[in-house]
Amino acid sequence: MKNSSIKTLVRENILQLQPYISFRDQNEFNAPVMLDANESPFGECNRYPDSTQKRLKNRLAGLKKVSPSQIAIGNGSDELIDLIIKIFCEPKKDAILMMNPSFAMYGFYAAINENKVLKLDLDENFEIVKENFLKAAEDPSLKIFFLCSPNNPTGNSVEDIEFYLQNFNGIVVVDEAYIEFSGKKSSLELLDKYPNLIVLQTFSKAWGIAGARVGMAYASEEIISLINTVKAPYNVNVLSQELILKTLENENRLRENVNRILGEKTWLEQQFENVACISKVFQTDANFFLIKMENIDSVYTRMLEEEILASRRDPAIPGCIRINVGNREENEKLINLLKSI
Ligand SMILES: *Cc1c(COP(=O)(O)O)cnc(C)c1O
Repeated sequence: MKNSSIKTLVRENILQLQPYISFRDQNEFNAPVMLDANESPFGECNRYPDSTQKRLKNRLAGLKKVSPSQIAIGNGSDELIDLIIKIFCEPKKDAILMMNPSFAMYGFYAAINENKVLKLDLDENFEIVKENFLKAAEDPSLKIFFLCSPNNPTGNSVEDIEFYLQNFNGIVVVDEAYIEFSGKKSSLELLDKYPNLIVLQTFSKAWGIAGARVGMAYASEEIISLINTVKAPYNVNVLSQELILKTLENENRLRENVNRILGEKTWLEQQFENVACISKVFQTDANFFLIKMENIDSVYTRMLEEEILASRRDPAIPGCIRINVGNREENEKLINLLKSI
């Protein structure tokens, strides 16, 4: 889509909005006397967080080779999904397009805003059928296409992402929550080429910090400033910002985490071959497996009895359950149980 047309996609009232900028952010954050925000002068964690998340963005910018002005940080990437829909989709009028099956939260936030959700059914290998996409993309109410790669819950990556960027007349969000496990190239390198691209990443999965609730959107400066305009000023708390900065000090942390999980993934894959109740393990680039069971009802019942949680996808994906890679003790319990069925 054309460079100049991003503004035409944005809701009129959002374009008119003045961002809330705290007095502190217009001035020196660490002034010696701070009497501007009605905080307590006593105790720990008594100050509001930096609403611009400057240190975090500078650190991420270096790591990801983008400018800090191309990064928005959210209370998990979930918050960013919500904000992106709010910016581009007029309630009761505009629609989003998503893969089916895919991550439920796109549809959830669209529904809250009374935006229609159009679903693009994937083929039997959970791939997008391009002709079907081109047909669906003609709907003029569509503003956003959510691509999830690797896709949750199917695990496979989306091929040829540029095709969708070129052929969708709106914003294309590429949700890369599992990209670190995949060994595939991130779409971040396409940012300069496609002004309608937003890439989502998160600290919740490969980084192992889901509890901190921190996710990132990478996009053009224009889109990022819109996200910064609509976000709650103090959306990422002090403790989370500090924890992430501390985590990023250890340059090996991500690689070590990913290697451990991929090692366990390989072990599980080998074990699955000797489990009778499994009829198919789908190819996956993520830290989880979509598995088709011979008898999903009895498998799921037995798992609940043994207090082994997994995500049942049946009946939406017939016979299937999504199971993520755990530590060796968890994985062994899972395999022992499945073998006993
Ligand atoms: C887990 C997940 C996320 C992460 O959400 P956070 O709010 O950052 O924890 C985003 N997208 C997909 C597809 C996911 O599976």
